[in-house]
Amino acid sequence: MAASTGTLYIVSAPSGAGKTSLVKALLDAQPQVRVSVSHTTRPMRPGEVDGVNYHFVSREEFLQRLEHDEFLEHAEVFGNLYGTSQRWLEQTLNEGFDLILEIDWQGAQQVRRLMPQAKSIFILPPTQEALRQRLTNRGQDSDDVIETRMREAVSEMTHYVEYDYLVINDDFAHALIDLQAIFRANQLLQAAQQQRFEGLLGQLLA
Ligand code: 5GP
Repeated sequence: MAASTGTLYIVSAPSGAGKTSLVKALLDAQPQVRVSVSHTTRPMRPGEVDGVNYHFVSREEFLQRLEHDEFLEHAEVFGNLYGTSQRWLEQTLNEGFDLILEIDWQGAQQVRRLMPQAKSIFILPPTQEALRQRLTNRGQDSDDVIETRMREAVSEMTHYVEYDYLVINDDFAHALIDLQAIFRANQLLQAAQQQRFEGLLGQLLA
């Protein structure tokens, strides 16, 4: 078992802000960080892999798991159910890994209530136009669908005030540096460093 317990991070963003790509780039550079794989009733999109992007389950299975208290938090987003496995989360943090939950504002509110020590990060696009462009570039969605997504994105963004950190994803490389800075600063907190360098501190003060 690791000497210290990892830090829990919540990362939220409107669809199209680049959250998933930023988190992936962060994980590539930080081996001590893990990301939670949620359960969802949403149908799989092309290119997605069961157990990697999500655990794809039926509504019946999701509700059964919910009844058995398996989720730390859960929410309905755009008609689909999403939830975070409590057991996996506890195990991963106890092994000393930092853990990211990529969840919406409803889930973030539930996690903050249960684990007030969690750090939360909201990722924003640089402009509404940039967001619209990113949503348009994604696929062959009709104008109506894009407009609905835009309204949902604006509604999600009103929750930014509930978060500890804000990252503006204008330039990807800069946004990644900002995200890495948040993780690094938290790793350097005195309490975390004290656990990590117990031996050294003992020696220095002898
Ligand atoms: P998507 O279906 O596009 O991957 O995700 C839709 C929304 O659901 C995103 O805002 C995403 O952050 C959120 N989401 C994904 N997994 C979870 C989860 O386990 N819990 C909650 N509350 N939201 C989630």
